[in-house]
Amino acid sequence: MSHTGDAADDPAIWVNQANPAQSAVIGTDKLGAIEVYDLDGRRLQSLPVGRANNVDVRSDLGDGTAFTLSGRPISLVTASNRTNNSIIVYEMDPVSRQLRDIAARTITTGIQVYGECMYRSPQTGTFYAFLTGKTGQVEQWALSDNGAGKVDATKVRSFQVTTTEAEGCVADDELGFFYVADEYNGIWKYGAEPGAGTARTSVGSASAAGPLAPTIEGLTIARTSSGTGLLMASSQGNDTFAVYRREGANAFVGSFRVVAANGIDAVSGTDGIDVTTANLGPAFPAGVFAAQDGTNDAGNQNFKLVPFQLIAAVGQSG
Ligand code: CA
Ligand code: CA
Ligand code: CA
Repeated sequence: MSHTGDAADDPAIWVNQANPAQSAVIGTDKLGAIEVYDLDGRRLQSLPVGRANNVDVRSDLGDGTAFTLSGRPISLVTASNRTNNSIIVYEMDPVSRQLRDIAARTITTGIQVYGECMYRSPQTGTFYAFLTGKTGQVEQWALSDNGAGKVDATKVRSFQVTTTEAEGCVADDELGFFYVADEYNGIWKYGAEPGAGTARTSVGSASAAGPLAPTIEGLTIARTSSGTGLLMASSQGNDTFAVYRREGANAFVGSFRVVAANGIDAVSGTDGIDVTTANLGPAFPAGVFAAQDGTNDAGNQNFKLVPFQLIAAVGQSG
């Protein structure tokens, strides 16, 4: 981070379909920017957009599921902006690896925004942004091509998750679920379609003993095959990551922590996380897990990257 103090918050991994080793991590600096880094951690771009808090991406994977703008598939990036409680909308340029503002206007939500994640409906192909709020509300916004080269958004659902903070969230684009971290209480699973209502199930309840030690922060999904994989959560209170099955009743699998290794300090106090199981080249052949690190021994806060096969290997050995 270029800012000192509690600056880094949430990463999103952009997968470069044409050249996977040239993928990038998009990260929020909640003291004033959205930044782009290469897989070696070098900063490629810094956009001084305000207090960007959470960010998400849907990469153009060349499989027909990308967002289309003016008839062209793009990698869509959206984020929450606490400066004006708005939704940031960018396109990632796959050649320059630079973000470009494509919001049709300042898209102001009706809540004090914190978290943000995206959903692509497998039923309609519509893209949505979920915004979560300081006092437990969620808003779902449909994203659309405005016909003039920009993206606009329309609010399609709002509901109350809790009366305290709800921030981290993730949606499952294949199974149609929306997961949200109710920071002091647990993880909730809702239907992700705008008409799904407020029916919900609990994935896990918060407990000081873990596996979800409050506060519960970032959520992400590792896709291992169509419809299967892992739901991962930052259990900030005990510096671990709790892992659940993505499918079925989200059975608990286990927890892990990211320890110091290879001259890199351990990860603690994590806010946002992201993961991909795409092959990102020699350094990350089974994908990569990205986590915000609350304390960086070597300087300002940063994001840490872990080859996904190390986490998968722990899972297989129990
Ligand atoms: Ca994220
Ligand atoms: Ca939080
Ligand atoms: Ca650290």
